[in-house]
Amino acid sequence: MERYRVEPGGRFSLATVDPRDRSAFPDLKKSTSITELRSMRRHLAELQRLLWADAHHAVLVVLQAMDTGGKDGTIRKVFSGVNPQGIDVRGFGVPSDLERDHDYLWRVHLQAPRRGRIGIFNRSHYEDVLVVRVNDLVPRERWQKRYRHIRDFEQMLTDEGTTIVKIMLHISLDEQKERLQARLDDPSKNYKFNPSDLDSRAKWDDYMAAYEDAINETSTDQAPWYVVPADRKWHRNLVVSQILIDTLESLDLSYPEPEHDLSSIEIV
Ligand code: ADP
Repeated sequence: MERYRVEPGGRFSLATVDPRDRSAFPDLKKSTSITELRSMRRHLAELQRLLWADAHHAVLVVLQAMDTGGKDGTIRKVFSGVNPQGIDVRGFGVPSDLERDHDYLWRVHLQAPRRGRIGIFNRSHYEDVLVVRVNDLVPRERWQKRYRHIRDFEQMLTDEGTTIVKIMLHISLDEQKERLQARLDDPSKNYKFNPSDLDSRAKWDDYMAAYEDAINETSTDQAPWYVVPADRKWHRNLVVSQILIDTLESLDLSYPEPEHDLSSIEIV
């Protein structure tokens, strides 16, 4: 999945990622991808069981995307085989009064995953350099310092035992149009339609510039960004699954040694 990983150094351009790309699994198509996804789910479930048993590492998956980008669908499809006890999904919406009375990382740190668990952030502290920047919710002097805060915060989490992987689901403007239209046309999707999504759509270029800067400023060896083509949902699901499998496999996980000498125990 290296092809989707953003190397540190600040030279990444979003224009280099085609949202319709399917090159990671060129031999598959939608109809044949499900077998592969099922096998990845099983693998992910085994790795998560090991993470839980090992109990030394936490894994944090940050998911960011434009509206309709597929964060919810990705979580549903990728994690549906994993033991729910070992997964914490956290969403970050408009900050409450209490949250606003603290620094912007306060609510985020509170939700950081425990050892042995996979924490999924459905939106994250990156909103504080995305929606906040695009809509001028705080002055530039303030949000500009946040890239450094975020790098330091993520470094601290990493130093203390959390493995971080950050994923931007990259959809095209055309694909977003189709998905928004489907929310208007399909009664079972009406509830998902939020007129404010049209405001962010109108500011697409500003958002892309904000994403590009955030990714360039904060993709590090310890907490890398992956920009995943996301117009094709089946390909997106496979890529995200494989990134997580690779991440968990890179940890030195093992089942703990039994605390007692089991050879002398006889069950009668
Ligand atoms: P989603 O759109 O992910 O399904 P919601 O409907 O709860 O979730 O929307 C969350 C909204 O909260 C988004 O519009 C997002 O931009 C906004 N939001 C998240 N974090 C912040 C923040 N720090 N400041 C302002 N708005 C935020």
